[in-house]
Amino acid sequence: MDIKYFDHSATTPIDKSVLQEMVPYLKDSFGNPSSSYDLGKKNKEAINLARMKIATLINSKVNEIYFTSGGSESDNMIIKGIAIANRRRGNHIITSTIEHPAVLNSMKYLEKCGFKVTYLRPRENGIINIEDFKKHLTKSTILVSIMFVNNEIGTIQPIKEIGTICRKYGIFFHTDAVQAMGYVNVDVKEYNIDALSMSSHKFYGPKGIGVSYIKENVSFVNLIDGGHQERDRRAGTENVAGIVGTAKALENAYKNMNENNKKIKALRDYYIVEIKRRIPYIKINGDLKDRVVTNANISFAGIVGDELLKELNKDGICVSSGSACSAGFVNPSHVLLSLGLSKNLSKAAVRVTFGKDNTREETEFLIDKVEEGVNKLRKKAK
Ligand SMILES: *Cc1c(COP(=O)(O)O)cnc(C)c1O
Repeated sequence: MDIKYFDHSATTPIDKSVLQEMVPYLKDSFGNPSSSYDLGKKNKEAINLARMKIATLINSKVNEIYFTSGGSESDNMIIKGIAIANRRRGNHIITSTIEHPAVLNSMKYLEKCGFKVTYLRPRENGIINIEDFKKHLTKSTILVSIMFVNNEIGTIQPIKEIGTICRKYGIFFHTDAVQAMGYVNVDVKEYNIDALSMSSHKFYGPKGIGVSYIKENVSFVNLIDGGHQERDRRAGTENVAGIVGTAKALENAYKNMNENNKKIKALRDYYIVEIKRRIPYIKINGDLKDRVVTNANISFAGIVGDELLKELNKDGICVSSGSACSAGFVNPSHVLLSLGLSKNLSKAAVRVTFGKDNTREETEFLIDKVEEGVNKLRKKAK
């Protein structure tokens, strides 16, 4: 059966051009980048070139880029690392209730270590209220971590405004930009970002490789100690193929951003319009305007999202109920509950996230099957 993939916020397929650049480093070019002979040195050069490309794309310095094992590690490294290193300056951190578990659970760890964490609740549309944010700043606030794009509802936060305020007060500002890369023209200078997390497999790169950008003047303690890799800041023999693939995937993402966004948005908008037209008693979750082009998160009253997911799976359709990271749990999404949705409406949500390779035909098939599935499940519930 043909797979119709509409879960691009969970992961994306690897691009052919990315895989092609990686293959030599998985085969003949296997040397350890720390070795002094040519077989190793060449790989070190490949890493340096990838680092330079990524730094140029996000407008950072080369020595502000660190390779990690993914978005989760980057979030941990940055949040724990900056908080612990700067503890003497203050013990207060601000984040939001709708962050990814990698951020929320890093915050929980810091709370156990004695930090005070403020969890901002967004407005009903999923966007942080800047006035509310300002009210929570204190003299002991050292770190703010607010995600760029939410993985469940796709809302885009006012990152530039938050960054500007943090810069003004000398507070470090981290953003989990995992869902923004490839869709928003992320420029760390323009947005006043001090630290940023990204993950390759969310922008058509390989899994298990991520990037932390940490501004030069920001001190942090290491998450992973060991050898001298990554200028002594993140130990472990480098994932050379992954690093090379990440640079290629990010290059593609920036180069084709406008074209891809236009195409993806057309499919997403068509899906929303048709679902609204054909299915009564639905709720579209998250702001409609300040929203990444990929995302449609809709609650279908009277059903359980997970059951619709299973119906769609029979036809080879991949979508998500809540976020993939919390799939398997029967708990309603913490993001949707934060917006003020009831437990039932939160459980009734289905997230569809479009990608650059989706087609109109696939989308029409999806819409038909969602309509069929919702009708079937609603009848059953009666
Ligand atoms: C996927 C995701 C992560 C985790 O990235 P991994 O590379 O899978 O560890 C973190 N934050 C957000 C917003 C994500 O969507």
